[in-house]
This record gives sequence, C-alpha cells and structure tokens, in this order.
Amino acid sequence: MTITPDDAWQDLIGISADPPDMRDKCDQCKRPTVVCWCCALPQPPVAVASQIVILQHPAEEKRSLRTALMLQLGLQPGKCVVYKGKRFPNNRHSADLQRVLDSPRTLLLYPSKDSVPLEEIDRSAGPYTLVLIDGTWPQAKAIYASSPALHRLRQVKLIAVGISDYIIRTQPTEGCLSTLETAAQCLAVLESQPELRQLLVRPLHALCKYQLDNGAVEHQSKEFLLKTNQYQKPIGKRLSRLLNYSNTVCGSSLESLAQKS
Ligand SMILES: [Zn+2]
Repeated sequence: MTITPDDAWQDLIGISADPPDMRDKCDQCKRPTVVCWCCALPQPPVAVASQIVILQHPAEEKRSLRTALMLQLGLQPGKCVVYKGKRFPNNRHSADLQRVLDSPRTLLLYPSKDSVPLEEIDRSAGPYTLVLIDGTWPQAKAIYASSPALHRLRQVKLIAVGISDYIIRTQPTEGCLSTLETAAQCLAVLESQPELRQLLVRPLHALCKYQLDNGAVEHQSKEFLLKTNQYQKPIGKRLSRLLNYSNTVCGSSLESLAQKS
C-alpha cells in the first residue's frame, strides 16, 4: 500500500489530540482505547421505528471525528445506514438505496424554500426514513445538485436546532449541528421521544470532554476564566444563558458561542 502525502496529512490531523501510542485500538470505534467513546453509547442500542440514511461525501469519512459511526452504533443494527459518494444513487450503491429514494415515506433533510418543518410532518403516516447529507454545506449542495433522485423527495428542515455540543470542530454558524446531533434531534421529533437526543449524543460529549482535557486549549481559555471567576468583561445575556445550558449538557459547549459574542 502506498502512503501519499495526503494520507499522511490526514493521519496527522486524526491524531492531534490523541496520545502518541496508537497500537491499542478499539475494535468497535477504531479509536485508540484510551480515547474510545464506546462506554458512552446507549446500552442496549436504541430501538426506533424510523430509519436514518446518511449520504456521505467521501471527504467526510476522513475527518478525525466521525459522528455518523456514533449514530450507527447507538441505534439497533440497520437503523442507520451510510452510503458514500458524490452523487446518489450510483452503480455501486445497493438496490436498498433505490427503494429508499422511491418510497413516499422517505424525507430529505434539506433547508430549501420548499422544505417544511419536521415537527409538522404527520407522524401517524410513518414510520419514516430520513435522508441526511453528511458533508460541509458546499459539499451537501453539490451532492444535491448532482443527484436528481433527491429532488423528488419531500424536503424537511429542523426548526429548533439548539446549540451544538460539537465544540471541537468550530461551527461556521450558530445552529450548525454535527451529523450525530442533527440525526438525534430528528429522531427525537419523529419518535416523539425528546430524551433520545441526549441519549444519542453522549459519545460526542465524551469525545469533547477528552479533547478539551487534553489539548484543545484554545477552546478552553474563555470558558476556564468564566468558571474560575477570572473573566472581567460583563457577561451578556446570551452567554449567561449558555453557561446555564452548558452545565446541564456538556459542561463545555459554551465556548462555541463565547467565541462569537
Ligand atoms: Zn470504542
């Protein structure tokens, strides 16, 4: 196997906050055992009537924090299926994907002018399969543009997106959630079980906590000062709300907002 400079670079990104010894890897999450988040997975895996289908841009797979895997392992087998590519479907995808795209009970999460709030979908006509596009916003737009099969799907959007717990990867805008958070929020709505969101995002919290404790220092400074009462500037309403919020959620998610205030 040839290692290209690009591969080497990706590896480097992937180990930034991990210890140097990469030999002992968890069989399940493929992370070094000391930073394995599997103990934070719901046990047993969550049973849901809905299904999540993730259309993943190839570049997304290489990111060091793969939240789609957290969702796959947190749900019962088969309840979260990932297909990779830049257009969907293509000849490498299984017939199952075609069936999903042909079904009247398939919804596409995509914030277009035609999309309706997920909260307004008639749940008694379900269970639904929810299709998510996993990638940056430009990648998602490109996948949508080159996949006519997606244009026929009923489009939905999330209204109450909340604050991202994913504080390691800087969010481009407030309300921009990781794939795991998005899917967990959607399932909470579709299954009428608000508690599902917290349950499914726990591995992400575990990962955030480890990263913050071990090297993601630049994300810590303001939070640290606030928590130790060393922060001199008056705290705005938004930030103090967030402080209360973060104490109940991640203990760390305030920083993504603090950077913007
Ligand atoms: Zn693991």
